[in-house]
Amino acid sequence: MPDTYLDYNATAPLRPEVRTRIDELLEFPANASSLHRFGREAKKHLEDARKTIAEAVSAFPNEIIFTACATEANAMALRGFAGRHVLVSAIEHSSVLRHPGEGRDPRSSSSERPDMDPGLRRDDIIPVTSVGVVDVAALDALLAKTPGALVSIMLANNETGVIQPIREVGEICKKHGALLHADAVQAIGKIPLDFTALGADMMTIAAHKMGGPVGAAALIIRQDLAIAPLLTGGGQELRRRAGTENMAAIAGFAKAVELIDFTHMQKLRGWLDTMEQALPKATIFGKASARLPNTSCLSSSSLSQEVQLMKLDLTGFAVSAGSACSSGRIEPSHVLLAMGVEKALAATAIRISGGWATTEDEIKAVTSALQSAG
Ligand code: PLP
Repeated sequence: MPDTYLDYNATAPLRPEVRTRIDELLEFPANASSLHRFGREAKKHLEDARKTIAEAVSAFPNEIIFTACATEANAMALRGFAGRHVLVSAIEHSSVLRHPGEGRDPRSSSSERPDMDPGLRRDDIIPVTSVGVVDVAALDALLAKTPGALVSIMLANNETGVIQPIREVGEICKKHGALLHADAVQAIGKIPLDFTALGADMMTIAAHKMGGPVGAAALIIRQDLAIAPLLTGGGQELRRRAGTENMAAIAGFAKAVELIDFTHMQKLRGWLDTMEQALPKATIFGKASARLPNTSCLSSSSLSQEVQLMKLDLTGFAVSAGSACSSGRIEPSHVLLAMGVEKALAATAIRISGGWATTEDEIKAVTSALQSAG
Protein backbone atom coordinates (compact mmCIF):
# COMPACT_ATOMS: atom_id res chain seq x y z
CA MET A 1 0.00 0.00 0.00
CA PRO A 2 1.42 3.46 -0.85
CA ASP A 3 2.25 5.66 2.14
CA THR A 4 -0.45 8.23 1.44
CA TYR A 5 -3.88 6.97 0.49
CA LEU A 6 -6.06 9.69 -1.04
CA ASP A 7 -8.69 7.68 -2.87
CA TYR A 8 -11.43 7.49 -0.22
CA ASN A 9 -14.19 8.09 -2.76
CA ALA A 10 -13.28 4.73 -4.30
CA THR A 11 -13.01 2.94 -0.93
CA ALA A 12 -11.96 4.26 2.47
CA PRO A 13 -9.56 2.25 4.64
CA LEU A 14 -11.40 0.15 7.21
CA ARG A 15 -11.54 1.85 10.60
CA PRO A 16 -9.79 -0.30 13.28
CA GLU A 17 -12.85 -0.17 15.56
CA VAL A 18 -14.97 -1.49 12.69
CA ARG A 19 -12.57 -4.36 12.09
CA THR A 20 -12.70 -5.27 15.80
CA ARG A 21 -16.50 -5.24 15.75
CA ILE A 22 -16.65 -7.44 12.64
CA ASP A 23 -14.07 -9.85 14.05
CA GLU A 24 -16.14 -10.28 17.24
CA LEU A 25 -19.29 -11.04 15.27
CA LEU A 26 -17.64 -13.47 12.88
CA GLU A 27 -16.92 -15.65 15.90
CA PHE A 28 -20.35 -17.25 15.91
CA PRO A 29 -22.68 -18.65 13.23
CA ALA A 30 -25.06 -15.86 12.37
CA ASN A 31 -28.28 -16.27 10.44
CA ALA A 32 -30.68 -13.64 11.75
CA SER A 33 -33.66 -15.73 10.58
CA SER A 34 -32.79 -18.73 12.80
CA LEU A 35 -34.93 -19.25 15.88
CA HIS A 36 -32.25 -20.63 18.20
CA ARG A 37 -30.17 -18.41 20.46
CA PHE A 38 -27.44 -17.82 17.84
CA GLY A 39 -30.09 -16.63 15.42
CA ARG A 40 -31.73 -14.45 18.04
CA GLU A 41 -28.39 -12.90 18.90
CA ALA A 42 -27.66 -12.25 15.21
CA LYS A 43 -31.10 -10.66 14.85
CA LYS A 44 -30.43 -8.38 17.80
CA HIS A 45 -27.12 -7.16 16.31
CA LEU A 46 -28.85 -6.63 12.97
CA GLU A 47 -31.72 -4.62 14.46
CA ASP A 48 -29.36 -2.59 16.68
CA ALA A 49 -27.37 -1.69 13.55
CA ARG A 50 -30.56 -0.75 11.72
CA LYS A 51 -31.56 1.58 14.58
CA THR A 52 -28.11 3.22 14.73
CA ILE A 53 -28.04 3.87 10.99
CA ALA A 54 -31.67 5.04 10.88
CA GLU A 55 -31.07 7.51 13.69
CA ALA A 56 -27.91 8.88 12.03
CA VAL A 57 -29.78 9.72 8.81
CA SER A 58 -33.12 10.70 10.43
CA ALA A 59 -35.07 7.77 8.97
CA PHE A 60 -37.27 5.16 10.63
CA PRO A 61 -35.65 1.75 11.20
CA ASN A 62 -38.30 0.04 9.05
CA GLU A 63 -37.26 2.29 6.15
CA ILE A 64 -33.76 0.76 5.99
CA ILE A 65 -33.37 -2.17 3.59
CA PHE A 66 -29.88 -3.66 3.74
CA THR A 67 -28.26 -4.70 0.46
CA ALA A 68 -24.87 -6.11 -0.52
CA CYS A 69 -23.68 -2.97 -2.28
CA ALA A 70 -24.76 0.46 -3.45
CA THR A 71 -25.07 -0.81 -7.01
CA GLU A 72 -27.74 -3.25 -5.79
CA ALA A 73 -29.56 -0.53 -3.82
CA ASN A 74 -29.55 1.75 -6.88
CA ALA A 75 -30.84 -1.07 -9.09
CA MET A 76 -33.61 -1.82 -6.61
CA ALA A 77 -34.70 1.84 -6.57
CA LEU A 78 -34.66 2.13 -10.35
CA ARG A 79 -36.32 -1.20 -11.15
CA GLY A 80 -38.83 -1.34 -8.32
CA PHE A 81 -41.58 0.67 -9.99
CA ALA A 82 -42.78 -0.90 -13.23
CA GLY A 83 -44.31 1.54 -15.65
CA ARG A 84 -42.64 4.64 -14.27
CA HIS A 85 -40.54 6.52 -16.77
CA VAL A 86 -36.97 6.93 -15.46
CA LEU A 87 -35.01 10.21 -15.60
CA VAL A 88 -31.44 10.42 -14.31
CA SER A 89 -28.83 13.16 -14.22
CA ALA A 90 -25.89 13.15 -16.63
CA ILE A 91 -23.36 12.89 -13.79
CA GLU A 92 -24.69 9.79 -12.03
CA HIS A 93 -22.53 6.82 -11.16
CA SER A 94 -22.60 4.13 -13.85
CA SER A 95 -24.82 1.96 -11.61
CA VAL A 96 -27.57 4.54 -12.23
CA LEU A 97 -26.58 5.74 -15.70
CA ARG A 98 -26.59 2.20 -17.02
CA HIS A 99 -30.20 1.66 -16.03
CA PRO A 100 -31.42 -0.24 -19.06
CA GLY A 101 -34.48 1.90 -19.66
CA GLU A 102 -37.95 0.48 -20.00
CA GLY A 103 -38.17 -2.78 -21.88
CA ARG A 104 -34.40 -3.05 -22.41
CA ASP A 105 -32.30 -6.02 -21.44
CA PRO A 106 -29.77 -4.77 -18.85
CA ARG A 107 -27.11 -7.08 -20.32
CA SER A 108 -27.23 -5.54 -23.77
CA SER A 109 -24.92 -2.68 -24.55
CA SER A 110 -23.78 -1.66 -27.97
CA SER A 111 -20.97 0.60 -26.94
CA GLU A 112 -17.32 0.44 -25.94
CA ARG A 113 -18.25 2.98 -23.25
CA PRO A 114 -21.28 1.45 -21.58
CA ASP A 115 -21.44 4.27 -19.03
CA MET A 116 -21.87 6.70 -21.90
CA ASP A 117 -24.41 4.54 -23.69
CA PRO A 118 -27.15 3.87 -21.21
CA GLY A 119 -30.32 2.19 -22.32
CA LEU A 120 -31.97 5.43 -21.34
CA ARG A 121 -32.87 7.70 -24.20
CA ARG A 122 -30.85 10.88 -24.53
CA ASP A 123 -33.84 12.99 -23.49
CA ASP A 124 -34.20 10.96 -20.27
CA ILE A 125 -30.90 12.43 -19.08
CA ILE A 126 -31.08 15.61 -17.02
CA PRO A 127 -28.23 17.99 -17.92
CA VAL A 128 -25.95 19.75 -15.45
CA THR A 129 -24.60 23.31 -15.52
CA SER A 130 -20.92 24.22 -15.99
CA VAL A 131 -20.45 24.26 -12.20
CA GLY A 132 -21.58 20.65 -11.93
CA VAL A 133 -25.06 21.23 -10.52
CA VAL A 134 -28.14 19.58 -11.98
CA ASP A 135 -30.14 21.96 -14.17
CA VAL A 136 -33.39 22.23 -12.20
CA ALA A 137 -35.17 24.21 -14.94
CA ALA A 138 -34.39 21.42 -17.42
CA LEU A 139 -35.71 18.86 -14.91
CA ASP A 140 -38.90 20.86 -14.48
CA ALA A 141 -39.38 20.93 -18.26
CA LEU A 142 -38.66 17.19 -18.62
CA LEU A 143 -41.11 16.32 -15.86
CA ALA A 144 -43.80 18.46 -17.48
CA LYS A 145 -43.57 15.99 -20.41
CA THR A 146 -43.33 12.86 -18.23
CA PRO A 147 -45.36 13.45 -15.04
CA GLY A 148 -45.22 10.64 -12.52
CA ALA A 149 -41.67 9.69 -13.55
CA LEU A 150 -39.00 8.24 -11.29
CA VAL A 151 -36.07 10.66 -10.95
CA SER A 152 -32.62 9.60 -9.75
CA ILE A 153 -30.14 12.33 -8.78
CA MET A 154 -27.12 11.85 -6.56
CA LEU A 155 -26.72 13.89 -3.40
CA ALA A 156 -23.03 14.48 -4.04
CA ASN A 157 -20.90 13.63 -7.02
CA ASN A 158 -18.14 11.06 -6.59
CA GLU A 159 -15.70 12.82 -8.94
CA THR A 160 -16.10 16.55 -8.26
CA GLY A 161 -17.74 16.34 -4.81
CA VAL A 162 -20.39 18.84 -5.98
CA ILE A 163 -23.47 18.71 -3.74
CA GLN A 164 -26.80 18.66 -5.58
CA PRO A 165 -29.87 20.74 -4.61
CA ILE A 166 -31.91 17.69 -3.64
CA ARG A 167 -34.48 19.60 -1.57
CA GLU A 168 -35.28 21.86 -4.51
CA VAL A 169 -35.35 18.83 -6.82
CA GLY A 170 -37.72 17.16 -4.35
CA GLU A 171 -40.13 20.11 -4.55
CA ILE A 172 -40.14 19.94 -8.35
CA CYS A 173 -40.70 16.18 -8.27
CA LYS A 174 -43.64 16.59 -5.89
CA LYS A 175 -45.18 19.22 -8.16
CA HIS A 176 -45.17 16.69 -11.02
CA GLY A 177 -46.17 13.63 -8.98
CA ALA A 178 -42.73 12.11 -9.55
CA LEU A 179 -40.74 9.86 -7.21
CA LEU A 180 -37.21 10.88 -6.22
CA HIS A 181 -34.26 8.61 -5.51
CA ALA A 182 -31.05 10.18 -4.16
CA ASP A 183 -27.75 8.30 -4.34
CA ALA A 184 -26.09 9.50 -1.11
CA VAL A 185 -23.19 7.03 -1.20
CA GLN A 186 -20.57 9.79 -1.27
CA ALA A 187 -22.42 12.04 1.16
CA ILE A 188 -22.80 9.77 4.18
CA GLY A 189 -20.16 10.42 6.80
CA LYS A 190 -19.03 13.60 5.06
CA ILE A 191 -22.03 15.93 5.42
CA PRO A 192 -25.07 15.62 7.72
CA LEU A 193 -27.91 13.61 6.16
CA ASP A 194 -31.58 13.94 7.05
CA PHE A 195 -33.70 11.58 4.96
CA THR A 196 -37.00 12.96 6.24
CA ALA A 197 -36.10 16.61 5.63
CA LEU A 198 -34.48 15.92 2.26
CA GLY A 199 -37.80 15.21 0.58
CA ALA A 200 -36.52 12.17 -1.33
CA ASP A 201 -38.61 9.00 -1.47
CA MET A 202 -35.54 6.75 -1.52
CA MET A 203 -31.87 7.15 -0.68
CA THR A 204 -28.86 4.87 -1.20
CA ILE A 205 -26.04 4.69 1.36
CA ALA A 206 -23.01 2.41 1.66
CA ALA A 207 -20.40 1.52 4.26
CA HIS A 208 -17.14 1.25 2.35
CA LYS A 209 -16.68 4.90 1.41
CA MET A 210 -16.68 5.94 5.07
CA GLY A 211 -14.49 3.40 6.88
CA GLY A 212 -16.99 0.55 6.99
CA PRO A 213 -16.62 -2.74 5.12
CA VAL A 214 -17.36 -3.57 1.50
CA GLY A 215 -20.48 -5.77 1.49
CA ALA A 216 -22.91 -3.58 3.42
CA ALA A 217 -25.14 -0.88 1.93
CA ALA A 218 -28.80 0.09 2.16
CA LEU A 219 -31.69 1.50 0.26
CA ILE A 220 -33.76 3.74 2.50
CA ILE A 221 -37.37 3.73 1.34
CA ARG A 222 -40.16 5.98 2.63
CA GLN A 223 -42.22 3.67 4.82
CA ASP A 224 -45.49 4.12 2.95
CA LEU A 225 -43.97 3.43 -0.47
CA ALA A 226 -44.56 0.02 -2.06
CA ILE A 227 -41.56 -1.23 -4.04
CA ALA A 228 -41.11 -4.49 -5.94
CA PRO A 229 -38.12 -6.43 -4.58
CA LEU A 230 -35.15 -7.01 -6.85
CA LEU A 231 -34.27 -10.29 -5.11
CA THR A 232 -37.08 -12.66 -4.19
CA GLY A 233 -36.93 -15.76 -2.01
CA GLY A 234 -36.79 -15.60 1.79
CA GLY A 235 -38.73 -13.02 3.75
CA GLN A 236 -35.73 -11.02 4.99
CA GLU A 237 -35.72 -7.22 5.16
CA LEU A 238 -39.50 -6.91 5.53
CA ARG A 239 -39.93 -9.07 2.39
CA ARG A 240 -38.24 -6.38 0.34
CA ARG A 241 -34.83 -8.03 -0.17
CA ALA A 242 -34.41 -11.76 0.06
CA GLY A 243 -31.11 -13.32 1.13
CA THR A 244 -29.37 -13.90 4.45
CA GLU A 245 -28.20 -10.58 5.83
CA ASN A 246 -24.45 -10.01 6.11
CA MET A 247 -24.87 -9.29 9.80
CA ALA A 248 -21.19 -8.76 10.70
CA ALA A 249 -20.65 -6.33 7.81
CA ILE A 250 -23.89 -4.52 8.65
CA ALA A 251 -22.82 -4.18 12.31
CA GLY A 252 -19.48 -2.84 10.99
CA PHE A 253 -21.44 -0.32 8.90
CA ALA A 254 -23.24 0.84 12.07
CA LYS A 255 -19.92 1.12 13.91
CA ALA A 256 -18.55 3.33 11.11
CA VAL A 257 -21.69 5.48 11.36
CA GLU A 258 -21.17 5.87 15.13
CA LEU A 259 -17.64 7.12 14.43
CA ILE A 260 -18.64 9.86 11.96
CA ASP A 261 -16.67 13.01 12.72
CA PHE A 262 -17.83 16.11 10.84
CA THR A 263 -15.30 18.30 12.66
CA HIS A 264 -12.47 16.31 11.10
CA MET A 265 -14.20 16.63 7.71
CA GLN A 266 -14.35 20.42 8.04
CA LYS A 267 -10.62 20.50 8.83
CA LEU A 268 -10.00 18.37 5.75
CA ARG A 269 -11.88 20.89 3.58
CA GLY A 270 -9.64 23.64 4.95
CA TRP A 271 -6.48 21.65 4.10
CA LEU A 272 -7.76 20.90 0.59
CA ASP A 273 -8.67 24.58 0.08
CA THR A 274 -5.10 25.52 1.05
CA MET A 275 -3.83 22.92 -1.44
CA GLU A 276 -6.00 24.38 -4.21
CA GLN A 277 -4.76 27.91 -3.42
CA ALA A 278 -1.17 26.67 -3.64
CA LEU A 279 -1.82 25.57 -7.23
CA PRO A 280 -2.87 28.92 -8.75
CA LYS A 281 -2.62 27.70 -12.35
CA ALA A 282 -4.76 24.61 -11.75
CA THR A 283 -8.36 24.26 -12.90
CA ILE A 284 -10.45 23.17 -9.95
CA PHE A 285 -13.62 21.46 -11.17
CA GLY A 286 -16.81 22.39 -9.34
CA LYS A 287 -15.03 25.01 -7.21
CA ALA A 288 -17.87 27.53 -7.61
CA SER A 289 -20.37 25.06 -6.07
CA ALA A 290 -20.90 23.66 -2.60
CA ARG A 291 -18.65 20.58 -2.43
CA LEU A 292 -18.03 17.64 -0.15
CA PRO A 293 -15.39 18.46 2.45
CA ASN A 294 -13.09 15.62 1.36
CA THR A 295 -12.90 15.96 -2.43
CA SER A 296 -10.85 18.01 -4.85
CA CYS A 297 -10.94 17.32 -8.58
CA LEU A 298 -8.32 19.28 -10.48
CA SER A 299 -6.12 19.65 -13.49
CA SER A 300 -2.70 21.05 -12.62
CA SER A 301 -0.61 19.36 -15.28
CA SER A 302 -0.75 18.85 -19.02
CA LEU A 303 0.36 15.23 -18.60
CA SER A 304 -2.22 12.51 -19.17
CA GLN A 305 -4.15 11.13 -16.19
CA GLU A 306 -2.35 7.77 -16.47
CA VAL A 307 1.12 9.38 -16.38
CA GLN A 308 0.20 11.64 -13.45
CA LEU A 309 -1.28 8.74 -11.50
CA MET A 310 1.78 6.54 -12.14
CA LYS A 311 4.19 9.32 -11.13
CA LEU A 312 2.24 10.01 -7.95
CA ASP A 313 2.02 6.29 -7.21
CA LEU A 314 5.79 5.95 -7.56
CA THR A 315 6.28 8.75 -5.04
CA GLY A 316 3.86 7.16 -2.57
CA PHE A 317 0.49 8.82 -3.30
CA ALA A 318 -2.60 6.84 -4.24
CA VAL A 319 -5.03 9.17 -6.02
CA SER A 320 -7.43 8.54 -8.87
CA ALA A 321 -8.66 9.86 -12.16
CA GLY A 322 -12.28 10.09 -11.12
CA SER A 323 -14.44 7.05 -10.61
CA ALA A 324 -12.70 3.73 -10.08
CA CYS A 325 -12.94 1.93 -13.38
CA SER A 326 -13.28 -1.84 -13.32
CA SER A 327 -11.46 -2.22 -16.64
CA GLY A 328 -8.48 -0.18 -15.40
CA ARG A 329 -8.77 1.93 -18.55
CA ILE A 330 -9.03 5.69 -18.10
CA GLU A 331 -11.36 7.67 -20.33
CA PRO A 332 -12.22 11.37 -19.99
CA SER A 333 -14.80 11.65 -17.25
CA HIS A 334 -18.46 11.69 -18.32
CA VAL A 335 -19.03 14.02 -15.34
CA LEU A 336 -16.58 16.64 -16.57
CA LEU A 337 -17.77 16.30 -20.17
CA ALA A 338 -21.36 16.84 -18.98
CA MET A 339 -20.16 20.07 -17.32
CA GLY A 340 -18.89 21.23 -20.71
CA VAL A 341 -15.19 20.72 -19.91
CA GLU A 342 -13.05 20.30 -23.06
CA LYS A 343 -12.07 16.67 -23.67
CA ALA A 344 -8.34 17.52 -23.65
CA LEU A 345 -8.62 19.23 -20.24
CA ALA A 346 -10.82 16.45 -18.83
CA ALA A 347 -8.11 13.99 -19.90
CA THR A 348 -5.70 15.61 -17.41
CA ALA A 349 -8.03 15.69 -14.37
CA ILE A 350 -7.19 13.87 -11.18
CA ARG A 351 -9.23 13.40 -8.00
CA ILE A 352 -7.86 13.72 -4.49
CA SER A 353 -10.23 12.37 -1.86
CA GLY A 354 -9.37 12.05 1.80
CA GLY A 355 -11.23 10.85 4.84
CA TRP A 356 -11.17 9.79 8.46
CA ALA A 357 -7.42 9.06 8.67
CA THR A 358 -6.15 11.85 6.41
CA THR A 359 -3.78 14.33 8.05
CA GLU A 360 -2.77 17.90 7.24
CA ASP A 361 0.80 16.70 6.60
CA GLU A 362 -0.45 14.28 3.96
CA ILE A 363 -2.29 17.06 2.13
CA LYS A 364 0.80 19.29 2.37
CA ALA A 365 2.91 16.46 0.95
CA VAL A 366 0.58 15.83 -1.99
CA THR A 367 0.49 19.58 -2.63
CA SER A 368 4.29 19.60 -3.00
CA ALA A 369 4.14 16.54 -5.24
CA LEU A 370 1.60 18.25 -7.49
CA GLN A 371 3.64 21.48 -7.56
CA SER A 372 6.71 19.62 -8.76
CA ALA A 373 4.86 17.28 -11.16
CA GLY A 374 4.87 19.78 -14.03
N1 PLP B 1 -22.92 5.49 -6.30
C1 PLP B 1 -21.86 6.30 -6.17
C2 PLP B 1 -22.07 7.78 -6.12
C3 PLP B 1 -20.57 5.77 -6.10
O1 PLP B 1 -19.52 6.59 -5.98
C4 PLP B 1 -20.42 4.36 -6.16
C5 PLP B 1 -19.06 3.77 -6.12
O2 PLP B 1 -18.09 4.37 -6.52
C6 PLP B 1 -21.56 3.56 -6.28
C7 PLP B 1 -22.80 4.16 -6.35
C8 PLP B 1 -21.48 2.07 -6.39
O3 PLP B 1 -20.91 1.51 -5.25
P1 PLP B 1 -20.53 -0.05 -5.21
O4 PLP B 1 -19.53 -0.26 -6.31
O5 PLP B 1 -19.96 -0.22 -3.86
O6 PLP B 1 -21.77 -0.82 -5.44
